[in-house]
Amino acid sequence: MSDVRLRFAPSPTGPLHIGGVRTALYNYLFAKKMGGTFILRIEDTDQGRYVEGAEQYIMDALEWLGLEFDESPVKGGAYGPYRQSERKSLYKQYTDQLIANGKAYYAFDSAEELAEMRSRYEAQGVHSPKYDATTRTSMKNSLTLDEAKVKELVEKGDNVVVRLKLNPDEKVVFHDVVRGEVTFNTSQLDDKVLLKADGMPTYHMANIVDDHLMKISHVVRGEEWLSSTAHHVLLYRALGWEDTMPQFAHLPLILNPTGKGKLSKRAGAKFGFPVFPLSWIGATEEDSFEGFKEFGFNPKATLNFLAFLGWNPGTEQEIFNLDQLVESFSLEQIVKAGARFDIDKAKWYNQQYIIASDEKELLTSVKSQLPENHGYSDAFLTGVVELMKERVVLLPEFTTKGSYFFSPDLEYEEKPIRKKWKEPNIQHVKALFQAVEAMNDWTIEALQDTIKGYITSNELSFGNILPFVRIAVAGTMKGPDIFGMMSILGKEEVSQRLQKGLEIFDEIKNKEAS
Ligand code: GLU
Repeated sequence: MSDVRLRFAPSPTGPLHIGGVRTALYNYLFAKKMGGTFILRIEDTDQGRYVEGAEQYIMDALEWLGLEFDESPVKGGAYGPYRQSERKSLYKQYTDQLIANGKAYYAFDSAEELAEMRSRYEAQGVHSPKYDATTRTSMKNSLTLDEAKVKELVEKGDNVVVRLKLNPDEKVVFHDVVRGEVTFNTSQLDDKVLLKADGMPTYHMANIVDDHLMKISHVVRGEEWLSSTAHHVLLYRALGWEDTMPQFAHLPLILNPTGKGKLSKRAGAKFGFPVFPLSWIGATEEDSFEGFKEFGFNPKATLNFLAFLGWNPGTEQEIFNLDQLVESFSLEQIVKAGARFDIDKAKWYNQQYIIASDEKELLTSVKSQLPENHGYSDAFLTGVVELMKERVVLLPEFTTKGSYFFSPDLEYEEKPIRKKWKEPNIQHVKALFQAVEAMNDWTIEALQDTIKGYITSNELSFGNILPFVRIAVAGTMKGPDIFGMMSILGKEEVSQRLQKGLEIFDEIKNKEAS
């Protein structure tokens, strides 16, 4: 193993959005490419936002996609525990260290006092006042109160937080692999809370301490964390860890299909496609979502699609399996501009994967779509797979689009019948159906010989006769090879459908006449 160590660090606040899955994927790809380690760390220090089942969901989703962790809460590892709530005792010593070194301070202000400060400064014309070098001088903290009072308040323990002490007007410059040099000034930043009143560290504190202790070499995460990075750099400095600070790479936003605005969890409901890897049943219907898996996306196609949302290999090749993605991936080829979430592209990938899929794998998928005691033979279902493979985009379509294989209750397309169910077509179709029902050899070739033979020897047009065969057998003019369909449906089933077809054709025609 190399020293390259990447962590995916989700907060279990709900189901993992597809953007989070992309973050996990890029972390995985880079770790594997460098012969490094891929780590799952659960950032659950915000008790108020903790959602039951979210951690399990994250693990299930990544398992479905085949992104395996080398170290995780379940798997363990040399740098555990991997859940921040189980590391609580670790963080305090570092905030204590920061206070002792004058890099952080205690603050005791209540919510009302904070609000009062903001309005006071706003009234003086300060735009969005923050807790910072200017405002902290008028607040209740260990920089303004005397030692005895501070001791008393810390012991009392009400409303005690620890804040990072930023120097005013200090430049913070760091290198981001995707964005290049990024510069902030401390005058834009506030004295972030590091340890909350409930004794839990904030995201910033826990994240930096853990990245350091877990020897994380690269932090690859969404763009929304870019502005926090300035604080993180300052924290590394304050803790004396700047030399081993990880490299940062902030990923571009994933945009709505319109190309405007960030892809939201509600976008799925609005546009009718999934934005979560797996379905999630939330407390309300609004908070419940259908997943890529349940929509019928293949996990490999999903990964391939996600890999290209913000990265490209710089060649024309679009189909990559996971190993190929690992081989081709580089942080330098991540793009800066937001990536538009194009569900049609996801479907295109899925179709390519279905076409390239092993028939056995598809057979398993089709079986899972049927009721337990479906009674269909493997030979029949394999026939369905062969005929439908190039026609389905999403896996459930084997049984939805291909419903004519599984039920004789067809929806009959009426237009061609209204147009063509007249003499002499009627007598020929009847004679042809009889000839088909009289066949002994029920192979594709024999069916072709009988049907095509009848049409050519009677000098008829295919367009006047074949539609009736199609519609009687499948209800629709669309669909796979009709001779193949007839062959796998079997003589008995087809004969029944032909008979029923004749009745239906009359009905449709009569309906029109009346
Ligand atoms: N817990 C943060 C999240 O939910 C992690 C951000 C980071 O990777 O630093 O995304």
